[in-house]
Amino acid sequence: MNSNNNYKALLIDLDGTLLDLDIQQFIDAYIDALSDRFIEHLDKKDFAEQLFGATSVMVKNDDPGKSNEEVFYTDFCRRIGLSEKEIKPVVKDFYDNDFPRLNCWAREHPRADAVIKAAKDRNLTLVLATNPIFPAAAILERLSWSGFTEKDFTFITTMENMHFCKPRIEYYREIADIINCPPEMCLMAGNDTLEDLVAAKAGMDTFLVDDFILQRDENEPVCDYRGSLEDLAAFLATSG
Ligand SMILES: [Mg+2]
Repeated sequence: MNSNNNYKALLIDLDGTLLDLDIQQFIDAYIDALSDRFIEHLDKKDFAEQLFGATSVMVKNDDPGKSNEEVFYTDFCRRIGLSEKEIKPVVKDFYDNDFPRLNCWAREHPRADAVIKAAKDRNLTLVLATNPIFPAAAILERLSWSGFTEKDFTFITTMENMHFCKPRIEYYREIADIINCPPEMCLMAGNDTLEDLVAAKAGMDTFLVDDFILQRDENEPVCDYRGSLEDLAAFLATSG
């Protein structure tokens, strides 16, 4: 643990941390809307199964030579019998035109601003460490629902630019490499007791943001710090 709190980087999760998102309603509406686009090829239930299947393969991938996007499309195309060339324009159009409407399941978090401001005041390298299972278009759109833009962050993890997903330790190591910051100088803040707190295994300090905590099991979560997003803002403003 970095007891001096002299961090150089803040990694922060999006869904349920910076953004108040009704995750179950959002996922259901997302699958429903995306499957509509492929209805002439396969029914909705089958589409959802293949999407979850390919996502699961991507999340488990441990080949540093393949981006998450490559792993996903290789598997997804094989599953649904369409080529990447056929799928990608449909997906792009979906993200451009349908996805923005899913913002009805999201609300800005009233304390998110204070966290980003405190991190900027401390000159921390800011990383949006959202699970990179979505393309950049979908992540930037959700980021806009939280009241921020790409410009607020030094680096944003997406399926195109990352080779690992949460909860792999390699995901956090890859971020540390990219921003050129030792893991010991990074603080990872998020609401998920597994996917976000696993950053500790990469050597990072962890702050469990418990406004919308996603508790994965019955065990008491192990983290360096815990509190609301408001507490995180205060912690960043007063320490270091
Ligand atoms: Mg989250």
